Amino acid sequence: MRYQRPKGTADILPGKSSHWQYIENVAREVFSKYRFEEIRTPLFENFEVFSRTSGDTSDIVTKEMYDFKDKGDRHISLRPEGTAGVVRAFVENKLYGPEVQKPFKTYYMGQMYRYERPQSGRLREFHQIGVEAFGSDEPALDVEVIAMGMDLFKHFGIHDMRLAINTLGDKPSRDAYRQALIDYLEPHFDELSEDSQVRLHKNPLRVLDSKDEQDQKFVADAPSILDYLTDDAKAHFEQVKSLLTALGIEFDVDSTMVRGLDYYNHTIFEVMVNSKALGHGYTTVCAGGRYNGLVEELGGPEVSGVGFGLGMERLLLLMEATGVSFPEEHHLDAYVVGIGDEADAATLQVVQALRQQNFSADRDYLARKPKAQFKTADRLNAAYTLTLGEAELAAQTIHVKNMASGNEVSAPITDVLNDFTKVTENID
Ligand code: ATP
Ligand code: MG
Repeated sequence: MRYQRPKGTADILPGKSSHWQYIENVAREVFSKYRFEEIRTPLFENFEVFSRTSGDTSDIVTKEMYDFKDKGDRHISLRPEGTAGVVRAFVENKLYGPEVQKPFKTYYMGQMYRYERPQSGRLREFHQIGVEAFGSDEPALDVEVIAMGMDLFKHFGIHDMRLAINTLGDKPSRDAYRQALIDYLEPHFDELSEDSQVRLHKNPLRVLDSKDEQDQKFVADAPSILDYLTDDAKAHFEQVKSLLTALGIEFDVDSTMVRGLDYYNHTIFEVMVNSKALGHGYTTVCAGGRYNGLVEELGGPEVSGVGFGLGMERLLLLMEATGVSFPEEHHLDAYVVGIGDEADAATLQVVQALRQQNFSADRDYLARKPKAQFKTADRLNAAYTLTLGEAELAAQTIHVKNMASGNEVSAPITDVLNDFTKVTENID
């Protein structure tokens, strides 16, 4: 029997994993400048955590969830997205309490699971980086989150992005809009996709998010949420736009944009890129918005939130297509060549001592001939090659060569064991 990884999953192999680490490191650095701190929540939660928050009619809940009964008959789901788990943790750990600084700003990164049809940039196990900020209704916080997302992409070497924003308003705005949408779509009921027919009365906003071509035809002429906003909702959105402008961040308002999850209100946004690597036209790589009410939905007090999630697979495809250069991670400072069995212990001592001194060091473990060992040192691009042969062992010295300059020196082994930098000073 040959084992294969499950459909829609990927192995991230050495050589590639450094790219992932680079992305994670850059994200951590950027987030810490905005004073977001990491949160780590479980990969699985009780099913209700997602069904309550994503919405019963969302694709995620109806089609994409990996859920199962565990041996204790609990209904469990692998997380399809990060926000619900973070909100659950926020409530459970009372992070809204008086001793926690407001807004509470946090980020996460890790695996997510959705049962989807796999294709380029779309997997069943995929990775997201996400941020959440709780406890402020100020439009300035929406803008900080958006600005941080845009900043992040620039740090990744991606400059050609399109920011689309929209508002879903507050509850009264949405209720009015909902009715207007139903009135608009009802005459076309028979022409809608099956999904959209089901959703028309339960959640008509979802029809706008449909990927079905048939449904798409109606989206273009659909009523605009912007015509149904209350004064409060309008003021919030106006302030978001003017603060984005104040920061010099360009954006388009896309009044038919909705989000795949039910919990959003007020500001929503998507960062899109036009790259062949991700398919035709613009593809969303980062999406988010405000979700006032989500904390209450999971049993917490009335605390508002705003955040975004970005797909790491799509980001990586994009960075590779854009030709972003990843830093060389797997650098080798020293390769220690041992000649003869007698050198075994000494070469091991030397590589260990070098590692203690914070150098990366390696040696041969396949009893290869000296010639093959020197070749390996070359292939691994070692900065220094050290040699321990019979003569060196007898004299308790070691031969050190700077591979870039070709300069060489013979030094007492104890010098290398104690302070390698001092030994190399003369040959750099
Ligand atoms: P889409 O419309 O492409 O299905 P979505 O609305 O379901 O996206 P979100 O739930 O907003 O996506 O997730 C945020 C980001 O996570 C997306 O913009 C995308 O980059 C990434 N993402 C979502 N689903 C997948 C997946 N199955 N595989 C890889 N990345 C994904
Ligand atoms: Mg989706």
